[in-house]
Amino acid sequence: MNYRQFGSTGERISALGFGCMRFPEYEKDGKKNVDTDKVDEMLAKAYERGVNYFDTAPYYCNGGSEAALGHGVKPFRDKILLSTKFPTEVAKKPGDYRRQLESSLERLGTDHIDFYHFWGIDKEIYDDIILKQNLLEDARKAKEEGLIRHISFSFHDDPAVIQYIIDTSEAQGVPMESMLCQYNLLDRSNEQMMAYARSKGLGTVAMGPVGGGRLAAPTELYAKLTGGASIPTYELAFKFVLGNPDLCCALSGMENLDMVEKNTALASGSVSFSQEEWKQLGDAMDNLKKFSDLYCTGCKYCQPCPAGIVIPQIFNMYTYYNVYGLKDHARKLFDQYVEKGGVLSDACLDCGKCEKKCPQHLKIRENLKMVEAIFKK
Ligand code: SF4
Ligand code: SF4
Repeated sequence: MNYRQFGSTGERISALGFGCMRFPEYEKDGKKNVDTDKVDEMLAKAYERGVNYFDTAPYYCNGGSEAALGHGVKPFRDKILLSTKFPTEVAKKPGDYRRQLESSLERLGTDHIDFYHFWGIDKEIYDDIILKQNLLEDARKAKEEGLIRHISFSFHDDPAVIQYIIDTSEAQGVPMESMLCQYNLLDRSNEQMMAYARSKGLGTVAMGPVGGGRLAAPTELYAKLTGGASIPTYELAFKFVLGNPDLCCALSGMENLDMVEKNTALASGSVSFSQEEWKQLGDAMDNLKKFSDLYCTGCKYCQPCPAGIVIPQIFNMYTYYNVYGLKDHARKLFDQYVEKGGVLSDACLDCGKCEKKCPQHLKIRENLKMVEAIFKK
């Protein structure tokens, strides 16, 4: 296993982290339960092969992940780093942070959590819940008492907000020590901010290193890039993420022993591309995108649309479909968008505001119809 310095936390972290959101489950009396026998075996195997970072959250696996993880790592708890998360929506009154933390400690069967994350935050949550309710102070106290060892956050918002969170928490005297964010070959939007986080001494962990699983399936991707050389797409995506020197650890939500073996082998060998190969691959991906007949950079200048159409999201599905050849995945994303009540072009007010603001001068209205027609087939 390869290890990296985890920012200024003083920890050394394995390049592969175990994401505990896809534990195997079985159904009994209509209820899903984590299969602890299988999970124990998977966790032991990962540990044996050098994984030392295990990441869970209270709601993963229908609420069963923390307890299953705690059970599985008991024999080697003091040799590993446990990470879990604080769901900010539970913070309604003073003491809620502490109560939630204690319930996680109990489920994990441990007296401390190594990395306790403010979970899935954006600017609104950070300002309106964390700062307003003084949760940073609660975290500082918990750290002082040894209940948590490091204060962390996981993130879903515009990349610039990362800098805001890092800077303001530091200014309040409770600096963030590690960060978990989305990063993969197809979504590099957080790259610059990962570099910023590292420069401020934070450890960085990526979720979705293989594109939330979507790159795991055989695709036309690598063939397009290389003219058919034989590195599997899965391996390519993994190596790309680990090739970024600003990243400390790539989380993978492993579902079975086979995945544990495969991923630990990948993270133990010569994982990284050289800096030059890494850059070439990134550039090649960007170029692929540029050759698209619909080159949307995802800048969001066209937003908000008064009709509520999430234009960059719809165009991004087309990029998956047309540029990366991930047709099934793109269709799935479109179906999910519709299922969640996402607005489509039939609601367009024809105001033209989006097209005036688009730096790529895209014919947005026309293209929305074209993309939707593909997915509605
Ligand atoms: S033209 Fe249609 S898609 Fe564009 S901003 Fe107006 S309502 Fe939205
Ligand atoms: S403004 Fe244009 S390039 Fe930017 S996200 Fe909207 S459609 Fe894409």
